Amino acid sequence: MKKAFYLETFGCQMNVVDSERIVALLEQIGYSQVDAADKADLLLLNTCSIRDKAERKVYGHLGRFKPLKDQRPELIIGVGGCVAQQEGERMLDTVPYLDLVFGTHNVHRLPELVTQAEKHRSRGCATEFLGREERLGNFPQRSQLDSVTRFVTVMQGCDNFCSYCIVPYVRGREISRPSSEILAEIEALVAQGVREVTLLGQNVNSYGLKEDEISFAQLLKKMNDVEGLERIRFMTSHPKDMTDELIDCFGNLDKLCKQIHLPLQSGSDRVLKLMNRGYTAADYLQKVERLKAVCPEIRLSTDIIVGFPGETEADFLDTLEMVKTVKYADAFTFLFSSRTGTAASKLKDDQSSVQKQERFERLCALQNQNSEAVWQADQGKVLPVLVEGESKQGDGQIFGRTTWNRIVNFEGDKDLIGKTVSVKIAKVFRNSNLGELV
Ligand code: SAM
Ligand code: SF4
Repeated sequence: MKKAFYLETFGCQMNVVDSERIVALLEQIGYSQVDAADKADLLLLNTCSIRDKAERKVYGHLGRFKPLKDQRPELIIGVGGCVAQQEGERMLDTVPYLDLVFGTHNVHRLPELVTQAEKHRSRGCATEFLGREERLGNFPQRSQLDSVTRFVTVMQGCDNFCSYCIVPYVRGREISRPSSEILAEIEALVAQGVREVTLLGQNVNSYGLKEDEISFAQLLKKMNDVEGLERIRFMTSHPKDMTDELIDCFGNLDKLCKQIHLPLQSGSDRVLKLMNRGYTAADYLQKVERLKAVCPEIRLSTDIIVGFPGETEADFLDTLEMVKTVKYADAFTFLFSSRTGTAASKLKDDQSSVQKQERFERLCALQNQNSEAVWQADQGKVLPVLVEGESKQGDGQIFGRTTWNRIVNFEGDKDLIGKTVSVKIAKVFRNSNLGELV
């Protein structure tokens, strides 16, 4: 009989891609995926440690697995991803019913760890960082998922050490894949039916710089020539490494979607410096203006941290000002979370949580107004939509996305999946649109 595994994924797209790899590796050793923990022989969590709340969630979930392990001691429980990388062996000590811990560079070792646990009831931990060659040989590989849109990882790790961020510690140093390998993967995906590819990396703008590779903009140009590929997206772009060559791509490359995620983090030069971001508010704004000049339809999204240690009301007002000026279509707003080992965790933090929360709410209120204005402007427009599948609403509709990555649900035949069609936006909701096929 086939063995079953249950997998939950937390955090960013990197973890989503790693989870696809986990699925493929486990299928190779005879496991199949199920959607309920109580039906599985192996329970896995792919974890995120970017904020304290994400990390606590992991322990909460493990607690829920305990009664299952009490009932069935042969059950194997494992944790991977950023919390696993950070905690390593300590996790096995803290959680006595945990069997496996595998770090961000060790996903490929999962089959071996699971097999050991099955055979010898042994507990295992693999969290060592790999050397360059081994890492390059172990980039997440293309899985056989049947979908219209896919992520392709172009680089892993990060060298930026923003003072608040745990990523460089849990994902290791930055490393880029050869462009030839990336393009070959994209061509293979397109042959498989994929029409949209999102290139992934913690800072795609510094793609290949360490490797003497072609620039990220040149990689986009080569991708634009791949026959059958319709849309290109990428994330994330660090503003300090956003070159004019890359900005110009938004004016020159017909397949590049008119949307960019450009994390601001703060609008205050003083805070940006403390964050070690490497740009000023004026530098950032200049790049935004250039983007809008080469591509007037472009829409931006961003990440903002509220309550960084020592943030004053004046600093916060600078952030609000920036949000008013740029008019982001979307913003992901976070309350600062102190991460052990990072430079910001050693800074004095004299704001009360009430004050931070109050600022957070002011920022969200402003951003909600901006988002509403940007998205409402689409009402009545006829827009090209790449159809991705059946609507998640479960009402027989299909869905796709606009160039701005906005979901549109509409009545249509499933044969349209994978095609770009014209859709009139009939109603704009908070997170999606309702459309009519034209
Ligand atoms: N590499 C990307 C970048 O530079 O934008 C994404 C990094 S992280 C996965 C996504 C976002 O989480 C960051 O842009 C930042 O706004 C937020 N973040 C990271 N560390 C944080 C912390 N300690 N507290 C609050 N938010 C944090
Ligand atoms: Fe973290 Fe900064 Fe690297 Fe993004 S660029 S992953 S925020 S250190």
